[in-house]
Amino acid sequence: MRDLAKHQGLRNQLVEVLMKKGITDKNVLQAIKTIPRHLFLDSSFENFAYQDTAFPIGAGQTISQPYTVAFQSQLLEVKRDDKVLEIGTGSGYQTAVLYGMGARVFSVERQNELYKKTSVLLPKLGIRARHLTFGDGYKGLPNFAPFDSIIVTAGAPFIPQPLMAQLKIGGRLVIPVGEEQQIMTLLIRKNETQFEKHEFGDFRFVPMLEDRN
Ligand code: SAH
Repeated sequence: MRDLAKHQGLRNQLVEVLMKKGITDKNVLQAIKTIPRHLFLDSSFENFAYQDTAFPIGAGQTISQPYTVAFQSQLLEVKRDDKVLEIGTGSGYQTAVLYGMGARVFSVERQNELYKKTSVLLPKLGIRARHLTFGDGYKGLPNFAPFDSIIVTAGAPFIPQPLMAQLKIGGRLVIPVGEEQQIMTLLIRKNETQFEKHEFGDFRFVPMLEDRN
């Protein structure tokens, strides 16, 4: 598959939809305008890739809905060269959006099949994540910590303590918390011990599971 003018047209329309739904961060919108989402999906979904919906990506997982990607990315308030940790690489689309926003992205995936597939795809598309790992995101990436921000793209039953510990002071952790349904939660680290908590609406993610598979 290639990236054609028709795909660019569909991306422009998707950006309009996201703006109508309340996304305002120019950096987020610009990244979504540039990243070819159809190349992160199985070719059978090509014609639907720019609809605002989630799709299966194999191994029982899904690529998040563009609105969700945009909403989480906006909450991160990414600045150029920020060190960002993503938990749940999946298709690599969110990784690519963060890269497009100028972040140095570190990402962890617990499904080996997806980890392998995405490790090949991202460089092919010219997306240079700093570090992709096959591992358990509950542990974060202590060797690369601290991070300016951390984004979890699977539904977490609770907020993993190691992720809080790997956040810089002033850093932001965006994580959907809950079992069946999740509340989008933003933690801002105030100092060594204190975090400010903000809650946003309900979302639905595949579950954040423990250990590698
Ligand atoms: N950001 C992805 C979303 C994929 S869905 C995208 O844009 O496509 C969530 C992903 O989180 C799945 O690939 C799932 O395997 C992964 N995941 C679930 N629990 C995890 C854990 N403990 N550590 C790392 N990844 C995890």
